[in-house]
Amino acid sequence: MKRAFITGITGQDGSYLTEFLLGKGYKVIGLDRTDSIHTAGKKIKFYKGDITDSRLLSKIIAKENPDELYNLASIATVAKPWEDPLHILKVTGLAPVALLEILRKESPRTKFFQASSAEMFGDPHICPQNENTPFQPKSPYGLGKLLSHLAVGQYRKEFKLFAVSGIFFNHESPRRSEGFVTSKIARTLVRIKAGTEKELVLGNLNAVRDWGFAGDYVEAMWAMLQDDVPDDYVIASGKTHTVRDFVNAAAKALHFEMAWGGKGENEVGKDSKGTVLVRVSKDFYRPVEKIDRCGDISKIRKALGWKPKTRFGDLVRMMVTVE
Ligand code: GDP
Repeated sequence: MKRAFITGITGQDGSYLTEFLLGKGYKVIGLDRTDSIHTAGKKIKFYKGDITDSRLLSKIIAKENPDELYNLASIATVAKPWEDPLHILKVTGLAPVALLEILRKESPRTKFFQASSAEMFGDPHICPQNENTPFQPKSPYGLGKLLSHLAVGQYRKEFKLFAVSGIFFNHESPRRSEGFVTSKIARTLVRIKAGTEKELVLGNLNAVRDWGFAGDYVEAMWAMLQDDVPDDYVIASGKTHTVRDFVNAAAKALHFEMAWGGKGENEVGKDSKGTVLVRVSKDFYRPVEKIDRCGDISKIRKALGWKPKTRFGDLVRMMVTVE
């Protein structure tokens, strides 16, 4: 039985990866700061602890002897990207390097997957972005992720570790938290439909993202660790949509007939009776993004045959379906 150790196991990606690996007959070991319903199941071995505690990580690795290590532990910084830059850098940058050091010295046979992020591109000059697009991170999160991304390549080269990094574009699911716009749209519209909320208030409706389904992306992580040659890949849907597209698709799935009127901050989305469902507020605006975020997945398609299975419309429908 193969043994996989997942850090950040209670998050969206950790939960999908756990289910996927259990389905493949793996023994799953996980670490997180908080326990959850998902980790409370008897099927996995759960350690409570912090990703910055390298002594604990070293102990777990010695005890559990994992074949594969998926480093998904991260930090949500969307609302306040500069609130605590040193801590963000510790979690996203130094902690993964500490893990690589533990593997180099104590468990070089363990294959290592690092979850990198399209945030490393900052405000890219080229669209779509691929593995060779210059990195110009604009936030402590992007900087930390870039440090660990580059370290993975270095440990692979210098110490021959099987270490790889997946550059993730936005990936969503019904398990996404409402801090992210997709989940905010889906859950608020569901509440409006149920009559428990009146309006959905958003920032820039024209912001463009490359949104995929998290459940598909964990399969890419696994495929990367099964290949003979360790390498880094962009993991994305390869398609772009605006926030407005997401609202339209979610409204349609919930049988609202939405019509837009007005411009900029005065734009509103109304239902067939003329009731306002969607408003715009400057409170949710971000600095203007000059170039669209869009991943070029030709490298992973060609090398590993991976491509996302879930289409945009299916993802949106999944997210507005109340379980
Ligand atoms: P990000 O890619 O990590 O920034 O993911 P988010 O889901 O937080 O944001 C995706 C895009 O949606 C960004 O370009 C935001 O500017 C845009 N957006 C528009 N309205 C909102 C909102 O109300 N909340 C959030 N989080 N994003 C919004």
